[in-house]
Amino acid sequence: MDNTSNFQCLRCGDCCRWHGYVRISQEEADQIAACLGMDVLEFIDKMTIVTADRRSLSLNENSDGTCIFFSDNPPRCEIYDVRPAQCRDFPVKWKSESEEFQCRTQKKKQLK
Ligand code: SF4
Ligand code: SF4
Repeated sequence: MDNTSNFQCLRCGDCCRWHGYVRISQEEADQIAACLGMDVLEFIDKMTIVTADRRSLSLNENSDGTCIFFSDNPPRCEIYDVRPAQCRDFPVKWKSESEEFQCRTQKKKQLK
């Protein structure tokens, strides 16, 4: 799968439920903070962590591993218009072969 325009997201929310980093750039931090009406330093302090490699910030997650901006029933991103590139690019630009991190659209295609 390498063409973003051909990808059809089922909006299942699986990829927002997985535990792991959602890395953000400084520009994305500015955009998300502005969207939330927060000062960017306050946003960084309250809603992000520094990744283990200390190269970037990542969005906080809830105790169950879901992203703090994920809202269930129906599955929804609360910052959809300013979601990070990592989220926009999934799964088209991701290279993971891991069963654990397979998009539901990909799984559906494999079953056909
Ligand atoms: S920012 Fe939005 S799209 Fe990205 S993982 Fe969080 S809820 Fe999902
Ligand atoms: S796992 Fe795939 S189909 Fe489900 S919300 Fe994420 S990108 Fe869309």
